[in-house]
Amino acid sequence: VTSVTLVRDCFSQISKYNARLNAFIKVQNENVALEKAIEADDRFNKGIIKGPLDGIPITYKDNFCTKELSTTCDFISPFNATIVDLLQDSGAIMIGKTNMDEFGMGAFGPAYNPHTIISDQKDSIDQEPRVAGGSSGGSAAAVASGMCFASLGSDTGGSIRLPASYCGVIGFKPSYGQCSRWGLVAYASSLDTVGIITRNVHDAQLIYDIISKYDEKDPSSLPPKLRSINASLASFEKTNSNFTDLSKLRVGIPQEYYVSELSDPIKSLWKRGISLLRSYGATIVSVSCPSTRYALPAYYILAPAEASSNLARYDGVRYGHRSDMDSKQDEELLYAHTRSEGFGEEVKRRILLGTYTLTAGSYNNYFIYAQRIRKMVQSNFDSVFRRPNPLHLVKNESSSFYNRNSDEIFEISNKLRNESHGVDVIMTPVAISTSPKVKDSLSSSFLSNSDNAKNLDDNSFVNAYVNDVFTIPANLAGIPAISVPFGISPIDGFPIGLQLMTQYGDEHTLFYISKVLE
Ligand code: GLN
Repeated sequence: VTSVTLVRDCFSQISKYNARLNAFIKVQNENVALEKAIEADDRFNKGIIKGPLDGIPITYKDNFCTKELSTTCDFISPFNATIVDLLQDSGAIMIGKTNMDEFGMGAFGPAYNPHTIISDQKDSIDQEPRVAGGSSGGSAAAVASGMCFASLGSDTGGSIRLPASYCGVIGFKPSYGQCSRWGLVAYASSLDTVGIITRNVHDAQLIYDIISKYDEKDPSSLPPKLRSINASLASFEKTNSNFTDLSKLRVGIPQEYYVSELSDPIKSLWKRGISLLRSYGATIVSVSCPSTRYALPAYYILAPAEASSNLARYDGVRYGHRSDMDSKQDEELLYAHTRSEGFGEEVKRRILLGTYTLTAGSYNNYFIYAQRIRKMVQSNFDSVFRRPNPLHLVKNESSSFYNRNSDEIFEISNKLRNESHGVDVIMTPVAISTSPKVKDSLSSSFLSNSDNAKNLDDNSFVNAYVNDVFTIPANLAGIPAISVPFGISPIDGFPIGLQLMTQYGDEHTLFYISKVLE
């Protein structure tokens, strides 16, 4: 297949479906993309390949800075995000920016779930329009409907995994610090990660290998020394040579994820996933993550607090929307008008909530408690996994660990791993239900529309937050997590994904087990 054919196919899917799915915010000019495809094909004919993605059409969620197309809130960026540069250097062709809620916050984006259109079993599917999920919903809808090969999104509390599960595609969130956030518009900086949506695990791994590089421009990027220590640590993936024999694999099933709200089709698919891994010889272990129930409220303290600080820069002076109201003599009025007009309801709610929890009077009661819960969630995961956490190993053994060679690091960590009763991977559902109906769902864009806002009761936004209950713990702990499509609900015909999580830095075990499930 030539690159020109691939690019043409994607544009033909876009012109067929985008009006109905609303997956893109901006579509690249087809001729610009085709020119690049012709160049890629020419290179190929001469035996030159730029990189593993040479000539492959991909998309970015609108919160990635790109020089060629504008970025969220119509910002024309003078630079590319680091991951955009890395993917471009490997030959990828950007064909558009995908839809998201304002700053990636809302629980449901206005992109529509493509499953009603693309499934070959249309008769068994409830035709009532469903959401693609948020906030990387446009990315999931674009990949699921063949509008691009892959899409890069962001995951702060589940925004990659939730839409992936709803749309029946792979959604992968790497460990915090593995992929550069430079050029990704910040929402909650200590939780934000770049994420990848693809149709299969192999493609996600391919892209991850290109973008998981140290970047000096991102202060939270994992430094090279820690990357090499991490690569030397023992893991299931490293010690297992036979793909169909998982007899040395220990799979954790956290009791706390078995909540009463979980729908029956999801419960039974979760059980089927457990049986599948067991049939390959894996040992299934019931594990406990008692801090899970506090993770959601802690997240909704921490994320708005960070957002209120990150969004302070939208004052109408440096960039973004500026109010036309005559307030030029009074800076405070200018800021107030600009921010009242420019932000949607959900963003304003988050800014107020975050500002409140950071005030002197409530800081100790909310923010500090939420940080403690975050720490508990992290140590909970550390006690459940048997692979040691590289970040702690370095801390505990201080400088001596830095001087060991990779064989020594492997030996020490393998010993620790074998002595532990922990697990290699945790398997849970991604969401409580299948993709919600558009009419029942809440999104920031819905709320910004005052007629819709009036029809929603005061607590409906809290109900929307609950959808993130299974995905948030991985963000609080910074560990890698993936949503793998695992079946279809017999009730409404919509896809269901299972979530896998591994120890910090153990992406390769995560991919390994995901390939067994897919
Ligand atoms: N729904 C969550 C929030 O609004 C997750 C968003 C995300 O992961 N970007 O914060």
